[in-house]
Amino acid sequence: MPQVNIPEPTMQAGDLLCGFKVLRVETIEAMRLTAYEIEHIKTGAKVLHLHAFDRENLYAIGFRTPPEDSTGLPHILEHSVLAGSEKYPLKDAFKELIRSTMQTFINAFTYPDKTVYPVASQIRTDFFNLARVYTDLVLHPRMLKETFLQEGHHLEFAIPGNIESDLIISGIVYNEMKGVYSSPDSLMYKDIQENLYPDTIYALDSGGDPDVIPDLMYEQFRDFHRKYYAPTNARFFMYGDIPTSDHLQFLAEILDGLDRVEVDSSIKSQAFFPAPRRVSGTYPVDQDESITNRTVVNMAWMLAENKDFETALLLEILSGLLVGSAASPLRQALIDSGLGEDMTPVSGMESDLKQLMFCAGLRNVQNNDIQKIEKLILDSLEKIVAKGFDRELVEGILHQVEFHGKEISRGSYPYGITLMGNVFQTWLYDGDPLAGLDFAKAIERIRKLWTDDPQIFQKMTQKWLLDNPHRLLAVLEPDPGFSRKNEEKVKQKMAVMKNSFSKEQLREIDEQAACLKVFQAETDSPAAAASLPKLRLADIPRQVETIPTEHKVLSSVPVLEHDLFTNGIAYVDLAFDIAHVPEDLQPYLPLLGKIMSGMGAAGFTYDEMSKRIALNMGGFGYDLTTGFLADATDTWQKMIFSFKALYRNVPEAINTMYDILCEGDLDHEARMRDLIAERKNGLQSSVVPSGHVFAKRAAGAALTLPAYRDEQWHGRTQLRFVQQQSDDSDAARKNLRDKLGQLKTIIFTQNNLLINLTAEADGLALVRENIGRLLIKLPAGQRSDRPDQPLLAPVSAGIAVPTQVSYVARAMKAPPYNDPSSAILMLASRELSNSYLYKHIRVQGGAYGGMSSFDATLGIFAFLSYRDPHIAETLRVFQEAQKFYSENDMPADDMEKAIISALGALDKPLDPSGRGYVAMIRHFVGVTDQMRQSFRDQIFAATPRKVRETLAGYFEKASQSKAVAVFSAQEKLNEANKHMADKLNLEKLAEA
Ligand SMILES: [Zn+2]
Repeated sequence: MPQVNIPEPTMQAGDLLCGFKVLRVETIEAMRLTAYEIEHIKTGAKVLHLHAFDRENLYAIGFRTPPEDSTGLPHILEHSVLAGSEKYPLKDAFKELIRSTMQTFINAFTYPDKTVYPVASQIRTDFFNLARVYTDLVLHPRMLKETFLQEGHHLEFAIPGNIESDLIISGIVYNEMKGVYSSPDSLMYKDIQENLYPDTIYALDSGGDPDVIPDLMYEQFRDFHRKYYAPTNARFFMYGDIPTSDHLQFLAEILDGLDRVEVDSSIKSQAFFPAPRRVSGTYPVDQDESITNRTVVNMAWMLAENKDFETALLLEILSGLLVGSAASPLRQALIDSGLGEDMTPVSGMESDLKQLMFCAGLRNVQNNDIQKIEKLILDSLEKIVAKGFDRELVEGILHQVEFHGKEISRGSYPYGITLMGNVFQTWLYDGDPLAGLDFAKAIERIRKLWTDDPQIFQKMTQKWLLDNPHRLLAVLEPDPGFSRKNEEKVKQKMAVMKNSFSKEQLREIDEQAACLKVFQAETDSPAAAASLPKLRLADIPRQVETIPTEHKVLSSVPVLEHDLFTNGIAYVDLAFDIAHVPEDLQPYLPLLGKIMSGMGAAGFTYDEMSKRIALNMGGFGYDLTTGFLADATDTWQKMIFSFKALYRNVPEAINTMYDILCEGDLDHEARMRDLIAERKNGLQSSVVPSGHVFAKRAAGAALTLPAYRDEQWHGRTQLRFVQQQSDDSDAARKNLRDKLGQLKTIIFTQNNLLINLTAEADGLALVRENIGRLLIKLPAGQRSDRPDQPLLAPVSAGIAVPTQVSYVARAMKAPPYNDPSSAILMLASRELSNSYLYKHIRVQGGAYGGMSSFDATLGIFAFLSYRDPHIAETLRVFQEAQKFYSENDMPADDMEKAIISALGALDKPLDPSGRGYVAMIRHFVGVTDQMRQSFRDQIFAATPRKVRETLAGYFEKASQSKAVAVFSAQEKLNEANKHMADKLNLEKLAEA
């Protein structure tokens, strides 16, 4: 975790070290870091180190990789280089690194114009091992033909060995991109990007268009690597507490012997359009879904160059002013018009491109209202220019920028990744890499510009939006035949292709596919396996890390306090017990959270509330969570409201929180409708991108009460429920208001509450002093009984969704945290994900992902697949995996890797708010540090025999349960049912 102080500069501009020249050294106080911009003299490689006292060090190597077509070459290359190099001649080095290191992050990203390979670790030896292997893979990959076929595309027969069966295309990226091309949100974004920058590389898809991917040739692929993956075109980014000189020594070794190879990878700018343009396309909806009012309309503008950081930041603020909050005037005009249901997810600014883009649009509109929407947007902008922006709205946005710059935040990504993203926005286009880091200075500067010219944002609206002809009207229409037409097109193309081949050629294709399968099934030779540097168990801490927690009581309400360095930010969680909420009210809980967070309160209208939140809080949200106790003697359920605030804003943040909880307005019906529509569309569009999560929830609901609730609140059942609530009749509205009112009375009382606080000592004291006022005003409340447990019924569900690929889940009931088998099952879920399922479902099956998860809290062990071309076959693999591990001892080497991987998962670093939150959840589960230590000890002590015996016993019992769910296209589900003894019961995702 970063500390208060800043590392002293150890070098200065002009210094020479290990063949590098220091170009610039700067201390950025607000970010607590010292930055070094450096160049490798011989190759010209660019280096940036952000030195900070954070032990989660990050290393990344990035290249500009402008695509030349839409074959997805940069993406397939990104997948392929990580397979192996001459020095590390493995089949899949990337997977081995995941399995055998304590990496806290390891991944690779293909952007429209760059490819970046980051790794992170908290252990120094591990960090350099990872960086060394990663760089070697990237610079000197083997790029075997087999890897290209596996990751990119290849031909095979639907029934291997039978050349009479259909000829099909397979490949990991090919299937991954089929998934992307099924998602309306991705299609929306793609359509805009390709047509707003038609004369640049942004008109191409670096990820790969499934129609075009099969055109990519192996030679082309090797050439591209030779050309762009040269040190001269490379940018090395490092962050963390390892000294700069150590990094330079390491890089000097890595770059030794490499020469300067100039390559023109510059990214051309798009010339401005002389006049606005229009484009239209289609997106998939389910065959029986209604298509009225399902059109999506966006307006997009091309703005300034990213290099001009000040203009970029001003535009970012302008975007926030226009559409960023409920009080934003353009957002309000669009929502209040009633022309559509909610704003499109692309609305706002996009800054990962050379020239910035701003979008605003509505979804679920009538297709004859397109012109009206265009006019509405332009008229609203005219009005905004005439009237100006509300002062508080501007202050609120400046506060948000200040807050997020100050906050030490690590979500699922390390903090270093956030900084890296920030740096690349300017660095990639040869701008100042540090321009975007010093937010404090930037905000000061913006404030001055705004004070000097209070109309600055109106003038920008005029210049960049109203007077800017580089504008696109992008329309997407729903097409129920989208997936079918696509499938047919591919089928036809394949049939034609098949006809063009002779029998001899067909046999050859089948043989090649068989060879590929053989290659995939082979294991690495012992020599290859031994080539990777090894982390020893002795390098990994034995002791669990603890989170400081003090138990207190304030006006009879229990309080947990975590004294942690938070850089002047207080995190407050109010956790209300909801276990006693009656069954018929349970489905309303998520809507309650959504509606309370978005309505007016205490005489403030909803937009005034939204401004108050932006001015006083760094963020505000709610969560519904549930689980078993560590010994499974009981379950718990909580509704948690969380906010964060700079210390100076704590009193007003608490007042705002009180108004939301106790003075909330449920009468503004139009606003309530809008919030429900937002929730419905949000849920609906998250189904396809996280199909495996929805499938896991659907299957798990058969087995335990917590998993049942999780599905009821966040799964397909919730989606259907919200769809019902969109009913606009008077009776429905009244019913909803009544139910929400009842819930508020039942939930928001003193005796349901637990308060969780995370801050430094003075911040904790400040919250304590102020929160008393809120507590006294809450009614005391009384305990009521819990409802009877709902009936848990077996699940065997096939849920039809408009997608070209499948998501398969098989769930089993997991033992509680304290059960002696839990540590082994957790370890086994990592091992299954990293090896057996990875190999059979991804490598051999061609799915984007195959994995397993263990969750003692929800009581669910699951097998999952993601963007999978198979269903029946995948369920069979799940079965075989159980058999395999029940009958075979893991080799000693794999055992050690599984232990390291499991410990790595336990030791995932958390940011301060995450640590406070996790400590609270542990409190609900009743997990003590002692229990955690014993869990950790059991992982260290795992042996192949123990794993086999535990799994054999567990699978034998647990696999009796019936809990399977598959999200896929209806035809695929029907097809799968033909091949399965246990049929899936087909359901529609949406109410017709
Ligand atoms: Zn990919």
